[in-house]
Amino acid sequence: MAVTDHVDLNGFMEGVKKRNPHQPEFVQAVQEVAEDIFEFMEDKEEYHSQQILRRIAEPDRVVSFRVCWEDDAGNIRVQRGWRVQNNNAIGPYKGGIRFHPSVTESVLKFLAFEQTFKNALTGLPMGGGKGGSNFNPKGKSVREIMRFCQSFMTELYRHIGADIDVPAGDIGVGGREIGFMFGQYKRITNNFTGVLTGKGLEWGGSLIRTEATGYGAVYFLENMLATKGENLEGKTAVISGSGNVATHAAEKIVQLGGKVLTLSDSGGFIHDPDGIDQEKIDWVKTHKTHRRGRIEEYVEAFPKATFHAGKTPWGVPCDVALPCATQNELLGEDAKTLVANGCRAVSEGANMPTDLDGVHTFKAAKILYAPGKASNAGGVAVSGLEMSQNSERRSWKEEELQQMLKDIMSGIHNSCIRYGDQGGGYIDYVKGANIAGFKKVADAMLAFGVV
Ligand code: NDP
Repeated sequence: MAVTDHVDLNGFMEGVKKRNPHQPEFVQAVQEVAEDIFEFMEDKEEYHSQQILRRIAEPDRVVSFRVCWEDDAGNIRVQRGWRVQNNNAIGPYKGGIRFHPSVTESVLKFLAFEQTFKNALTGLPMGGGKGGSNFNPKGKSVREIMRFCQSFMTELYRHIGADIDVPAGDIGVGGREIGFMFGQYKRITNNFTGVLTGKGLEWGGSLIRTEATGYGAVYFLENMLATKGENLEGKTAVISGSGNVATHAAEKIVQLGGKVLTLSDSGGFIHDPDGIDQEKIDWVKTHKTHRRGRIEEYVEAFPKATFHAGKTPWGVPCDVALPCATQNELLGEDAKTLVANGCRAVSEGANMPTDLDGVHTFKAAKILYAPGKASNAGGVAVSGLEMSQNSERRSWKEEELQQMLKDIMSGIHNSCIRYGDQGGGYIDYVKGANIAGFKKVADAMLAFGVV
């Protein structure tokens, strides 16, 4: 059989599994996209003959490197760092850096693959990448984190650049870590350039970048509810996570008249039947981000709430749900529980928080369900706007940026409708996002020939 002959979805996925052994997260992400793309490609011979999906599912390159650093006790510690540059057909590689003990090559390859479609959906010229390390920032002193970030950048700097690859933050990497990494990049290269996003406002950062992912996920939710003539006023929301994305999603829900019932971390979730208002959200931000505390301590500050150790919040009845912690945190059974309890809409703030069973459950129930690549694209969108501001050597005003973020989220919503409208009032947002993102990247790749 010539390699250009058609294979079916199963044949394609067998090849992906064979080429990527022991990489379940990456295989899962490819499967979710391939399920929609095979149907879309059925009558599009050029995509088949040019092996476009197979090429997108093979990263342009994966760089793996040693990161040595010295802890406060003088011990030498060795970690592994990676940068996955998945695809730069429509712009420089772009995607966050994650520091978490669960980081593996498989996790970063899945994130870089997803990022390729997400970035295409924003309408901005950004390719897809992702990086990180199995370094665990929890319990480390600020000096240890600084030394780690400097060592990480001492290798990473040779692979990135404002027109090559522009990393940002992700789990375990916030403004402070971006500062340490940018400082080291500048020191090594003597080059003040927009090589990272999520920078501080005094040194090239953009207004609303911090809020953008969580706010964007709620704007997307509003767009979905509007297709049913509804809004967030008076609706109950269940949210997982208590980091950057979760707290800003909660903030926007409250601003739009909704009531947030839960937040969580890797230790369990808190349920506050009175609602988590702005004052409580501010407490969580300070407690989790600045003091690096645990969410269970919320119940000491707000005694009407309860803490549920080792559990996820999906059993709490709600109108809308926003998984905003990590991948595969909402499983098939959780999806069934949400649907049975009357949940009408799910907007993913995290990347791939719902497993394949859960995705199939939401689709079968025909509820409003937005995959992260569509609903959490607000963060990378404002990162793209930060890149533009850096190139222009200007800072745009907050109102302009807020409006651009809203417009971009509505634009992504429209793209999902364009390719995901199944008739009878049902929009398959997963299909819509996959096809719209794929088409843009695929058409650019066709223009470049076999590279
Ligand atoms: P943060 O590090 O700020 O927060 C992560 C939150 O998730 C914490 O509450 C953390 O709890 C919890 N968490 C992490 N791992 C687990 C786990 N295995 N089980 C349960 N809870 C867990 O990260 P972000 O808020 O930035 O990122 C959250 C998600 O959103 C990720 O999937 C990320 O890829 C995605 N995302 C982020 C963007 C951004 O702009 N920041 C952009 C687009 C997507 P604990 O404190 O106990 O670790």
